Amino acid sequence: MFEIAILFLVLVVFYLIVRSKVLKRYVAEEYRYTARKRYFSDVEHALNIALLEAVEDKALVQSKVALSSIVVPQESNAKKRSRAYAKALKATLDYVIVDKQSGQVVCTIVIDDGKKISQHKADREKAILAICRSANIPVISLNQQHAYRVSAISRKLSPYLKLETDTKSAKFCQKCGSPLVIRTATQGEVVGRRFWVCSRAPNCNYIENILEH
Ligand SMILES: [Zn+2]
Repeated sequence: MFEIAILFLVLVVFYLIVRSKVLKRYVAEEYRYTARKRYFSDVEHALNIALLEAVEDKALVQSKVALSSIVVPQESNAKKRSRAYAKALKATLDYVIVDKQSGQVVCTIVIDDGKKISQHKADREKAILAICRSANIPVISLNQQHAYRVSAISRKLSPYLKLETDTKSAKFCQKCGSPLVIRTATQGEVVGRRFWVCSRAPNCNYIENILEH
């Protein structure tokens, strides 16, 4: 009986020592971070606005989505399943279009910026396509010109969302072709007045008066 009590005491002391070591190590491994200045690059930002216009309030536009949020591995072998999950977790989709009513994924969008990509990146994109195909999720590829053309995006999305394909309200920048957004002046003589401003501002300074009726 006495031996058991001693053994128990030794185990408790051992546990406390290990725990204090682990805790100390955790504190020592804290890293410092700064917030990214912007969530989107200029192209991503312009495209996000164009997509929001194109889906006409019928869908939600999700950006930078982990592939694992929209697919579930269908492997019966546990080891294979966890590897399949890890593979999907690592991949990020540029945009996912989600039906507003049902909450179901309508399609995914990958951006082709026209630049030559490395073999590694090409392999990763191929893997993303293969995973989406296996899950029966449509992948729509948009190039940078599409990024600025709401009507072209609407046409591409219309088979999945039943959209009015000739978009009436969208306005475009006369300088760079990006969608225009409405902004209210916060300083100067025109404070409070609303303007059409290029969605790439401050990188593009195009401004247009709003014709009030
Ligand atoms: Zn512009």
